[in-house]
Amino acid sequence: MFERHARETSLALRLLGPALLTVSFALAPLATVSLPAPSSDPHPALAHIEAGVAGMRSDPEASRRHAQQALALLSGQPDADLEIRARLLLCDYYSERDLEAARAEIAAAEARLAEAKRPGLLSGIVACQGETFETEGKNDRALELYDRAVAIGREHDDDEMTANALYARGFLQGLQGEYALGMADFREAQALYDKLGKPHHSLTALNGIATLFNRMGDYAQAQRMYSRALRAQTEAGMRREQAVTLHNLARAYENLQQWDAAQDAFARSALLSRELSYPRGEAYALRGLAAVANARGNPQAALRTLDHALALQQTTPDTRLHALIQLERGIALRQLQRLPDSAAALEASLEVFRRGEARTELARTLTELAAANAAMAQWQAAYAYQVEAQATAERLLRNQLDQRFTTLKVEFDTIAKEQENALLLLENEANEKALAQERRARSLQATVIALTVVLALLLATLALHQRRSTLRMRRLAMTDELTGVPNRRAVLARLDALLRDPEAGVCAMLIVDIDHFKAINDTHGHAEGDQALKLVASGLRKAVVEPAYIGRLGGEEFMIVLPGTDEEGACRVAERLRARVMEIDTQRWLANGPITVSIGVTVSEPGTDTPSTMLQRADQALYAAKRAGRNCVRVHRPSPVPPDEPALADAATAG
Ligand code: GH3
Ligand code: MG
Ligand code: MG
Repeated sequence: MFERHARETSLALRLLGPALLTVSFALAPLATVSLPAPSSDPHPALAHIEAGVAGMRSDPEASRRHAQQALALLSGQPDADLEIRARLLLCDYYSERDLEAARAEIAAAEARLAEAKRPGLLSGIVACQGETFETEGKNDRALELYDRAVAIGREHDDDEMTANALYARGFLQGLQGEYALGMADFREAQALYDKLGKPHHSLTALNGIATLFNRMGDYAQAQRMYSRALRAQTEAGMRREQAVTLHNLARAYENLQQWDAAQDAFARSALLSRELSYPRGEAYALRGLAAVANARGNPQAALRTLDHALALQQTTPDTRLHALIQLERGIALRQLQRLPDSAAALEASLEVFRRGEARTELARTLTELAAANAAMAQWQAAYAYQVEAQATAERLLRNQLDQRFTTLKVEFDTIAKEQENALLLLENEANEKALAQERRARSLQATVIALTVVLALLLATLALHQRRSTLRMRRLAMTDELTGVPNRRAVLARLDALLRDPEAGVCAMLIVDIDHFKAINDTHGHAEGDQALKLVASGLRKAVVEPAYIGRLGGEEFMIVLPGTDEEGACRVAERLRARVMEIDTQRWLANGPITVSIGVTVSEPGTDTPSTMLQRADQALYAAKRAGRNCVRVHRPSPVPPDEPALADAATAG
């Protein structure tokens, strides 16, 4: 397939110079390249197939020999996939040289398909069938088969076969003036080759695009591409490719009517083709040289060159080449006034161009036929050809413009789509980032909330703990450790608050002191004394009821405050307490009688008394009780009693 296309296309865009040095790979024809996964013990035929694939374009004869050697090896050690690939190589080779042989390879490949592991190979077989029809000039049938080959390749996800079929179809569509369709196929093929990691195939597809530029009438652009490709091929030493590209370049110059450049390139292509024993390439180049000779008004030289070209062309079944040669012959013959010969040659080519829908050549042939008939005074035929020539040229031009426009639109749409996709990608990325950020923020927020709650709970617990311990500390600070009743500080503070309260009225204070307590300590020890002290405190506390309250002043002395109680009430309470203490069972310490207390009583003087002044008076009353023999109650009244007069009253009697 490629060899045929090489006539017109070549690897114009081999711009990856250094990569091209791997010539064996670079030259692999698309239809037959399929490198299987390396196995530990590869089939001996594989190397031949790969070599055949590699040499397909640089040395078709060597490629054919490799394919045949592969088949010989496969007859001893069959492998359906490899055999089909070898036969596809041969089919590709013969499709341009010997259609019967090509069809035989197709039939043989088809016969092995049932056993093949790679169903996509059918695509290659169908594509080669298409090639045989294309060679015959049956382009519609060829196109149908290429369509099928593309579909089969796609169906089996066989990217390589799909790309090959797309390339073949793109090329044919380009030939038929469907440049936009051809461009789309080339582009898709190129993308698949890129995906497959086949840069050289990708470049070949790009080269197809360059050829479309040529066909669309953008010769300058095509000429630039071919020149670049030629440099790359020259550097890589790809001589056969150079021959083809030189021809394509020369065609561009021919179209640009740059005859010197065209002649030079055609001549170099012819020489190189001869050196390479590439008759088809040489025939094409000779046709070009003849065209230049015709353009320069040298029909004799043109005819000589064309005879040579025809002789070379005899060895190939290329109908299009034949028609091209006939066209140039017709032009030369008309210049030589051999008008019937000219018309016959032109009419022979006309048929092929009509069938192949090669509009450029068709328009030229028709114009030449019109001129030849006019020269023969065949006015009617001349007129008819002229009308058709004009219509064809117009169609060609319109089509070229249409296709250029469509192609530009396709390119534009592709770029726009790519940009849109890129934008969408960016947008998605941004959205995703924003979402991720939001998610992060939300989870951070949740963490912060959780931490805050934990912290609040912790603080609350701490506060509670603190409060409890504060309360406990305060309680401890205000409580007498031994007896459990409020201590001196607590009871005096409370009294102080009471005395400062203007609405509290009078209150009474009692100091209760255990009689002869020292004796208990002395007799039974301090610990036993403690027990006795606790017992008395407990008894007193039970007897003191709200709003009265008790506290330990220190040692074996207790203080009792009686809010809102006058002297009489206080003495009554004191007496009751004294009696109550005597009820406590203290036999274990005092065998001779109950424990007793002496009580000093005083009543507050609202507005002037302080805890201290009250204490002083109560203490004096207590002292009086002790002096009176103990186990009794005494009162000390506050001033206004003159200081020299004792303010003592026997408000209570000893028990
Ligand atoms: P009086 O009838 O005159 O009050 O005689 P008294 O022995 O009770 O009084 P005094 O002031 O001579 O002795 C009080 C004793 O109380 C002295 C001290 O050892 C004892 N005492 C003070 N505080 C405590 C205490 O917490 N535990 C014990 N076991 N004894 C204490
Ligand atoms: Mg005392
Ligand atoms: Mg005492």
